[in-house]
Amino acid sequence: MTKLNDKIILITGASSGIGEATVRELAAAGAKLFIGARRSERLQALANELGDQVGWRRLDVTDDSDFAAFADAAEARFGRIDVLVNNAGIMPLSPLAALKRDEWTRMIDVNIHGVLNGIAAVLPRFMARGAGHIVNVASVGAHIVVPTGAVYCATKYAVWAITEGLRQEQDDIRATIVSPGVTDTELGSDITDPEVAGALEEWRKKSLTPDAIARAIRYALEQPAGVDVNEIVVRPTAAD
Ligand code: NDP
Repeated sequence: MTKLNDKIILITGASSGIGEATVRELAAAGAKLFIGARRSERLQALANELGDQVGWRRLDVTDDSDFAAFADAAEARFGRIDVLVNNAGIMPLSPLAALKRDEWTRMIDVNIHGVLNGIAAVLPRFMARGAGHIVNVASVGAHIVVPTGAVYCATKYAVWAITEGLRQEQDDIRATIVSPGVTDTELGSDITDPEVAGALEEWRKKSLTPDAIARAIRYALEQPAGVDVNEIVVRPTAAD
């Protein structure tokens, strides 16, 4: 196992759910963390709680120059970047027939462009050093299409493909997909169709708590440099 206490780790979507739980898990392991999301007040509160090992900056992952500035700020604060966890995501589920084009666009922007912007922000630095690790949070929806999830699952299939492509292209940089099953977080709070929101509530009756995914991410990060955990899929026990 590699100790995380000399690692500098960037995490997006750190203001709630899986991102926040991962910050807590990795902070407890001694890592230095630079965290981003749009809700600055939550980031600030988390950083204040955890102390000097955590830095933060407001980040909109859909904005490539903002992501580059986020990475610059992390490097300025800690001197280096070892790991990027692309965790930010949204899931406004709806049937295609509802034609919620704005929601399709937002999902594609956050879930796909957000991940690509993150890769663009750190990959040249990792290639220059000949080391680095990118963890992309996909979903079981990267393997199966769930009802009302055509576009959301499409974005997660894309995250899966991008991560696998990165792994194949790079010999010195590790690439890991972490695919959560249903997890009890704020995800889906932006669903606009009451029937779909009700169905999500049903799914959530059997769900993981976010710390389960945080431990999976920690496991991948703690492997020695020569070990690349390609994917971890975590579902609640006895889930479909
Ligand atoms: P949450 O809604 O709790 O967290 C999502 C995070 O993404 C928030 O911190 C939010 O912060 C951030 N975010 C959203 N849009 C942006 C943006 N434009 N720029 C920066 N940050 C943004 O959900 P989860 O913790 O569940 O989601 C984390 C990841 O896990 C997502 O990629 C999701 O798809 C994936 N996942 C979750 C599952 C679940 O059942 N919960 C199952 C499978 C995968 P803010 O609003 O402050 O910007």
